[in-house]
Amino acid sequence: RPRVGVLALQGDVREHVRMLDGLGADTSLVRRPADLAAVEGLVLPGGESSVIDKLARAFGMQHPIRDVVAQGLPVFGTCAGLILLADRVEGAIAGQETFGGLDVTVRRNAFGGQNESFETALAVDGFAGPVPASFIRAPLITEVGPRVRVLARLSDGGVVAVEQGRLLATAFHPEVSGERRFHDRFLARVREASLSSR
Ligand code: GLN
Repeated sequence: RPRVGVLALQGDVREHVRMLDGLGADTSLVRRPADLAAVEGLVLPGGESSVIDKLARAFGMQHPIRDVVAQGLPVFGTCAGLILLADRVEGAIAGQETFGGLDVTVRRNAFGGQNESFETALAVDGFAGPVPASFIRAPLITEVGPRVRVLARLSDGGVVAVEQGRLLATAFHPEVSGERRFHDRFLARVREASLSSR
């Protein structure tokens, strides 16, 4: 069973754990650098990216996470997790940092506040049929680098799901909609990566 960690500093950790357990992963909570040693993949949950960033730095997690991303650990970020993976952020709060690794620019709260949260159905590259997507104070991907593959766009063209090597990120919350295919794709990456490192 793939051993997967969920960064558990703040955010919708439980929803990811439930989804991953349901897909047969051996899921653990990651809070300290030592917790990273046991995992073959990492999920960065939705929540509040500035809070997760602050806690990650307070817990000494920023550099260890940067290191595992650089080493090719498969990582899946949703919403705030996407922001934390992004190399560039528009609308960050003062002093907010990211782990980075994903060559994109994201705009925080691109659709406005909580009242502008919405659900829609998306076409996602490689998935058959519509994908329910729940946007909650969601970011938008406003620029993608050359190694980034766009997986989904809103009807106005805005980019909301991307992949770059072993990094996968969505502006929305499949873990909230019960949409399993992104987690499946992430777990497939985890299995590939752990086979190739043997
Ligand atoms: N607006 C949040 C942030 O900037 C993200 C919201 C979410 O994860 N649902 O981190």
